[in-house]
Amino acid sequence: MTTIAQRLKQIRSQINDAELACNRQPGSVLLLAVSKTKPAEDIAAAYQAGQRHFGENYLQEALRKQLELGAYDITWHFIGPIQSNKTKPLAMHFDWVHSVDSLKIAERLSAQRPAHLPPLNICLQVNISDEPSKSGITLAELPQLCEQVAKLPNLNLRGVMAIPAPQQDFEQQRQPYKILHQAVVELHRPELDTFSFGMTGDLKAAIVEGSTIVRIGTALFGERNYA
Ligand SMILES: *Cc1c(COP(=O)(O)O)cnc(C)c1O
Repeated sequence: MTTIAQRLKQIRSQINDAELACNRQPGSVLLLAVSKTKPAEDIAAAYQAGQRHFGENYLQEALRKQLELGAYDITWHFIGPIQSNKTKPLAMHFDWVHSVDSLKIAERLSAQRPAHLPPLNICLQVNISDEPSKSGITLAELPQLCEQVAKLPNLNLRGVMAIPAPQQDFEQQRQPYKILHQAVVELHRPELDTFSFGMTGDLKAAIVEGSTIVRIGTALFGERNYA
């Protein structure tokens, strides 16, 4: 049986290979372990193997696990859809939110961020494949939302997150990331240092196109069971 520790080692080595393959500095891509639907024990197992950044999609589930794992020094990332009436617990209990897609959500997160905590790290979610069902802003909306969110006092605007439509072909996987990366470069905002690009199925393409955070669930924790 493959353990979480063994899988973690394999993924770290895949990330390292991809970094070297495109002449990027080893260690420039952060591994975010996506633990949605998985029990706190799985998070603890990855933590024992050195993993510190974990991503969750469902607020109630995440808060439950955070309570259970209170003694662990974990950096928590929220990567799921955000309901505007649920921003307060997000502002209180997370270090990063990757899925901000409106000024209203950003304003609430800033207003609700507790004063004793550092600014909340924010990525704007961009719907790069223009899929009607997916959340996220359009590329055209990115410059203005960046400008507005950058002004909010208790947020630290860091970059963008994308979940492109799944593709099998490597070159096709690269395309949306290439386009979004270029759009961010053209904003000339040096504080935008974060590209939350890549999941289990397209990790290498995402790293080739400048990912700085890959969000990996299945390859680390196994298939998810939503039942
Ligand atoms: C579930 C999820 C992931 C992880 O996907 P895998 O294919 O299991 O690696 C990454 N990002 C987001 C936003 C997710 O919802």
